[in-house]
Amino acid sequence: MVLSGKVAVVTGASRGIGRAIALVLAKKGAGVVINFTSQAEAAEAVAGEIRAAGRQALVCRADVSDPAQAAALVKAAADEFGRVDILVNNAGITRDNLILRMKEEDWDTVLQVNLKGAFNCARAAARMMVKNRHGRIINITSVVALTGNAGQANYCAAKAGLIGLTRALAKEIGSRQVTVNAVAPGFITTDMTERLAPDLKEKMLSTVPLARFGRPEEVAGLVAFLASDDAAYITGQTIAVDGGMTCF
Ligand code: NAD
Repeated sequence: MVLSGKVAVVTGASRGIGRAIALVLAKKGAGVVINFTSQAEAAEAVAGEIRAAGRQALVCRADVSDPAQAAALVKAAADEFGRVDILVNNAGITRDNLILRMKEEDWDTVLQVNLKGAFNCARAAARMMVKNRHGRIINITSVVALTGNAGQANYCAAKAGLIGLTRALAKEIGSRQVTVNAVAPGFITTDMTERLAPDLKEKMLSTVPLARFGRPEEVAGLVAFLASDDAAYITGQTIAVDGGMTCF
């Protein structure tokens, strides 16, 4: 098992991509902390699946946009398992609108959750990782951070900020053997994308060379690789899992 003895914190892990990441990290041997904000039952179900497979899981409610709650999440992981090796900053939200109609509150909330949430968790986890001379921080960004997308100025700015955060942290804590990478999913079938209008989905599909939407497990596979020792010499990178959407 490539992640045996490792402990992972996955934010927003009650459903979608976060759920798939939690399950694959556990399958590879890690103990996993499943963070959620509102869907306690769904989070417990993910933990149940992990425990049924003979791995350890802890469910922890925390709003990552709140620095105190993010710190408490990392502390809960350390108290339960004695260490944190892997942090996956997956929690994310959208509040889409064109700039002329975008409320300031929607700008702020998206930045608070998607970007500051990752900073909050990374700051808490990095302290431990630097001390242990080992760690993996994986930030889930998006292809729209690279391409831009009309109607998502807040989300694109937050996700592009995550790429900057990834590069800065990679340079800052690399000497302690903590790697920091970003994964940029394209169009993945989850609750977040289910909400989109059918004509918009059709339009998006036409931009995907593989001619299908991705599955959460296809993002999770890359995260598991980046979390492993096999990826020890990869840091500061942003890797797309997008069916070829961003191949220029
Ligand atoms: P989702 O809406 O299904 O899941 C998002 C998760 O984040 C949920 O569990 C939610 O409860 C949690 N969350 C939201 N706010 C939180 C907060 N303040 N604190 C803690 N948890 C919080 O979305 P998804 O599609 O699974 O997306 C997961 C990540 O992947 C997000 O960062 C998203 O931006 C990114 N992403 C998704 C796609 C896609 O096509 N689905 C594409 C690119 C990037």
